[in-house]
Amino acid sequence: MAKIVLDGVDKVYSGGVKAVDNLNLEINDGEFMVLVGPSGCGKSTALRMIAGLEEITGGDLKIGEEVVNDRPPKDRDIAMVFQNYALYPHMTVEQNLAFGLKLRKIAKPEIEKRVNDAAAMLGLEPYLKRKPAALSGGQRQRVAMGRAIVREPQAFLMDEPLSNLDAKLRVQMRASLNQLHERLGVTTVYVTHDQIEAMTLGDRVAVLRDGRLQQVDTPKNLFDHP
Ligand code: ADP
Ligand code: ADP
Repeated sequence: MAKIVLDGVDKVYSGGVKAVDNLNLEINDGEFMVLVGPSGCGKSTALRMIAGLEEITGGDLKIGEEVVNDRPPKDRDIAMVFQNYALYPHMTVEQNLAFGLKLRKIAKPEIEKRVNDAAAMLGLEPYLKRKPAALSGGQRQRVAMGRAIVREPQAFLMDEPLSNLDAKLRVQMRASLNQLHERLGVTTVYVTHDQIEAMTLGDRVAVLRDGRLQQVDTPKNLFDHP
């Protein structure tokens, strides 16, 4: 687990668009922080900068105590879950969960333990031998989350992970995410344009508009008083 600090972070894309403008945000150890706001407000850009998938053009990003501005994604010890699940179609669920750990040369018994624990937490035990094509959207999204969990990263980053699911599944998955977070307590940054998701998931919610931070507070303080 780690604290994530954005200290005056900017992103100007090469075309000149200022997607993120002087963003100051401290995400505490173990906190579930939601970034919410309308399409184009800079949420994904902010998340991708934390992941190291997008270069920062101003300010500092810290993970733990260290400035990581120039550190590549693989040296940041964070895992990201996207809305398109990016599973390997030719592998079973079990193989999908284990693959990243095999690449990291983690010992086989440890891989088995982590895969089984993640499968149990996510209700994936009955599907371990199936391939992604034989899973529902919700099950695929659970596998994608499982791949992040087994890495035991310092932080999870999620970009609209539920937006491809139907309304009923979204409700189920929100409950699963809450449980998972309670269980694992991993620092999480979660991007959504959906206020209900923000309200039900976030310990705190950061509201972005035109690349700027408008407010950051608990869901109760933000949404209870119209
Ligand atoms: P959100 O996730 O809130 O929808 P984004 O971070 O995707 O917002 O986009 C913020 C702004 O940056 C938008 O104006 C968008 O058009 C622009 N933008 C996003 N990605 C790029 C890119 N690769 N090159 C240039 N501009 C981009
Ligand atoms: P995974 O187990 O998630 O498939 P890989 O071993 O394929 O991970 O990834 C290789 C490296 O690429 C990782 O060390 C990680 O830092 C980076 N990486 C992979 N997926 C993501 C992602 N979704 N977001 C950010 N970085 C990623």
